[in-house]
Amino acid sequence: MQTLVARGGRAALHALYPPQCVACAAPVAEDFGLCPDCWRDVDFLDGLVCDACGLSLPGGPEDGVLCDGCLRVPPVWSRARAVFTYSGTGRRLVLAFKHGDRTELHRPAGRWLKKAAEPLLLPDTLIAPVPLHWRRLLLRRYNQSALLAQALARETGIECVVDLLHRPRSTGSQEGRDRAGRFANMTGAIRCTPRRMARIAGRPVLLVDDVLTSGATLAACAAALRAAGASDVTAVVLARVAKGG
Ligand SMILES: [Zn+2]
Ligand SMILES: [Zn+2]
Repeated sequence: MQTLVARGGRAALHALYPPQCVACAAPVAEDFGLCPDCWRDVDFLDGLVCDACGLSLPGGPEDGVLCDGCLRVPPVWSRARAVFTYSGTGRRLVLAFKHGDRTELHRPAGRWLKKAAEPLLLPDTLIAPVPLHWRRLLLRRYNQSALLAQALARETGIECVVDLLHRPRSTGSQEGRDRAGRFANMTGAIRCTPRRMARIAGRPVLLVDDVLTSGATLAACAAALRAAGASDVTAVVLARVAKGG
């Protein structure tokens, strides 16, 4: 009966607000999905990727392969995955989510992140978003990484601590800085929240962010978590910039 009522309610809602593609607003069958054209245009990273940074690599399925960059300089975290490449419709989705108040995108994103993060999940994992400085949070009104982390937690049933990390000083934009500049700008910029410290020791932490570019921000997060005694640090992001900056 309840299901019938729920179904009736949804049908009425769909008559008023027909489901639309989250990227282009074309009509679709289900809420919070992509239309077939947009789906084809998103470069989902479901082939071979670098185990450490999620970068797309040529070749067939294989475990534990690393890209040249990660072979040269292994990241501070151990493994990472991304849902799609930061280009085309994938890039438009991230920008709409980040700057366009399209926060409903966390619904499909939670499902995609779950699929991408599956190889990274260990028992007792704690999910934590990359933090925003409070001034940026006031301007944007929401932390897009926290919305993604909470969506992933809902999909997986894994515990999420939104304020596990914080950003005590404003680092400004990373845009316009080269790779070394990005890392220098982020050094020591992220700390574990003192009252959450006790949660971290001995547990694996899965970091969640919207975009992975140079990895400087994730590295600062991972360094803080390792110093606090996390047993492992992994990362899952929505979009991976194809060529690390
Ligand atoms: Zn579409
Ligand atoms: Zn890599």
